[in-house]
Amino acid sequence: MKFLNAFALSFNNIMLQFDTLMDYIPNFTIYNNNSKVEIQYVATCHNKILIHLEEDLNIKSRTFIEINNISKEVLYHKLYKSKGFNDKFHYDGNLGINYTKDYCEFKLWTPAASNVQLCLYKKDAQEELSYIEKIPMIETNGLWYIKVDRNLKNMYYTYEITVFGETNEVVDPYAYAAGVNGLKGYIIDLKETNPQNFENEKSPTYIKNDTDAIIYEASIRDFTSYPSTEIKSKGKYLGLAESSENKEYINSVGLNHLVSLGITHLQLMPFFDFSHESVDESSPHDKYNWGYDPQNYNVPEGSYSTNPYDPIIRIIELKKAIMTLHKHNIYVNMDVVYNHIFKFENSNFQKIFPDYYFRFNENGEICNGSGCGNDIASENSMVRKFILDSVLYWIKEYHIDGFRFDLMGLLDIETINLIKKEIKNINPHIMIYGEGWNLGTNLPEQNKAIIQNSNKMPQVGFFNDFFRDIVKGSVFTATDKGFINGKQHLENQIKTCILGSENLFLSPSQSINYVCCHDNLTIYDKLLCTNKKDSEQVRIDMLKLAFTLIFTSQGIPFIQSGSEFCRSKDCIENSYASPDYINWINWDKKINNAHVVNYVKSLIEFRKAHPAFKFTSSEALKNHIEFIGGLPDNVIVFVLKDYANNDPYKEIMIMLNANKNAKLIDIPSGKWNLIGDKNLISDKTIRIVENSFNLSELSSYILYKNT
Ligand code: CA
Repeated sequence: MKFLNAFALSFNNIMLQFDTLMDYIPNFTIYNNNSKVEIQYVATCHNKILIHLEEDLNIKSRTFIEINNISKEVLYHKLYKSKGFNDKFHYDGNLGINYTKDYCEFKLWTPAASNVQLCLYKKDAQEELSYIEKIPMIETNGLWYIKVDRNLKNMYYTYEITVFGETNEVVDPYAYAAGVNGLKGYIIDLKETNPQNFENEKSPTYIKNDTDAIIYEASIRDFTSYPSTEIKSKGKYLGLAESSENKEYINSVGLNHLVSLGITHLQLMPFFDFSHESVDESSPHDKYNWGYDPQNYNVPEGSYSTNPYDPIIRIIELKKAIMTLHKHNIYVNMDVVYNHIFKFENSNFQKIFPDYYFRFNENGEICNGSGCGNDIASENSMVRKFILDSVLYWIKEYHIDGFRFDLMGLLDIETINLIKKEIKNINPHIMIYGEGWNLGTNLPEQNKAIIQNSNKMPQVGFFNDFFRDIVKGSVFTATDKGFINGKQHLENQIKTCILGSENLFLSPSQSINYVCCHDNLTIYDKLLCTNKKDSEQVRIDMLKLAFTLIFTSQGIPFIQSGSEFCRSKDCIENSYASPDYINWINWDKKINNAHVVNYVKSLIEFRKAHPAFKFTSSEALKNHIEFIGGLPDNVIVFVLKDYANNDPYKEIMIMLNANKNAKLIDIPSGKWNLIGDKNLISDKTIRIVENSFNLSELSSYILYKNT
């Protein structure tokens, strides 16, 4: 027999696992807190031995078991999920600091620590941090607390924590502010971080349903880092808020581009403080990184600030950017990464309470669904609370309008639904959506926040990979094609996409319809791979067909910044650490591809004016949509009829031809106003058509009739 591992299931129950059936009980000894633990009784069950202890384990000390001279640690992570643990240690109150000018309270949760001291620092005349004092904190049921009766404003702080005999200095995971590279927390009066009038600033209010949203994904750095624009604060929070002098549409960049394009929600790639190992805030130009590696979840990233050395400036600048975007009727969605961190052994979490924040497999190894070797255990009550507190903090303090959860499928349904429920009380229009991929992590399938469980999360949106791959080919094979670029027999799947993918979701409100985002090839690069031998004109026509599908399908349209003017990243599929010149938005391409931008802009305008594309119920949609039959291959025609979803038009017809040659088709009876083709869509009738219509190669048309 081979002794595999040992787990504490509760404070007084231990389970041993062996590789064979156990019909006898070997001799063993258990040590906790440097002494032998008395056993009450032992039982065997298949390949397991269950041990009931006389007394509770002291979890401030590790536990070891010795069998046949083999010693193994008794792992605690199952115990941390037990009711007994939560009853004893779960803490519902506020954590982090509570600053007033007369005193400051500090609260840190860690039942494993045997000693915690508050360390205070301040900057000396040379701007160097100098250590001031260490103040011991007091524990009650895992909550460490100290109140310091003086004004600690603008002092740096850390906690020196002793756990299992090891002492480390950590940053408060609840810190609101931090020094350069996030290595020290910082005590602030949050009121002093507000730009003028920020308290009174409000999010726009014109979105009533998630399907009204048009999401535009951008990175703060990439959006304004291209050298030849007039934007002054390139790659910074403030760059996002700069109005260009040249407001003429086709020359406008940055903020003015967003305004004239007409998107509703700007989804910003990570801007919480990400690891200094990814980007050194003191010299951000040395290294590029997208930042999917959180370090301080509630602190804005310093490399996007004009002065990363001042912990307050980054907060003010981010708030200014959000305020300016709101003023321009743009909502701000935050890309949040609660599913994993960069290096778990270096993380504050692991130093504060080893193994509590991370998820483990049944064999005791850490889970690696994220591919980064450390899935966050969102199902643990104090981890769930941390994620919820963090989301609520960003809403309250920064007026964030929506959250895109990175690898949401690694989180559990209860956490996601709890967040949705709590934010609904604040503002029902705050969006919650994410990547619902089903990855290998140790959560029961039915508890994962994955697309397959979308029916258990009715208020939550999901990136629709079915839509993404059917429209233009799989992301996993560069040369795989989809409907727009030459794969045959996808008509039925495309119809499903147009219906809001009812095969996957309860309603179209859950479907984020997209063809590309920061991951994988841009749509332009994808078409270069799939249709190398075709002309640029053919590929552009395909690109436009993709946009037509995004904006005329039921669901929530999502576009990657720059894709509306043929953004390329030199066919690099994962540019997370590629140089700026790969990642930046090349604004010169906007002028060169003005016809594509104009087309996308007109699609957005059209969608905004027509509720017919924004159903929130699949049932209601069914009564108002009809696909026309008897058409050639790769041609789709559908009609949104009877003033669908209270549309001003009685009937709207969309015709798509994904063939590389023209197709003559019969169209439904009546006189139709043609208002859009692959060049432009408007509300003005180009001509009246009836009986039949010749669809040119790779084309789309929009028609309506009101009689
Ligand atoms: Ca950072």
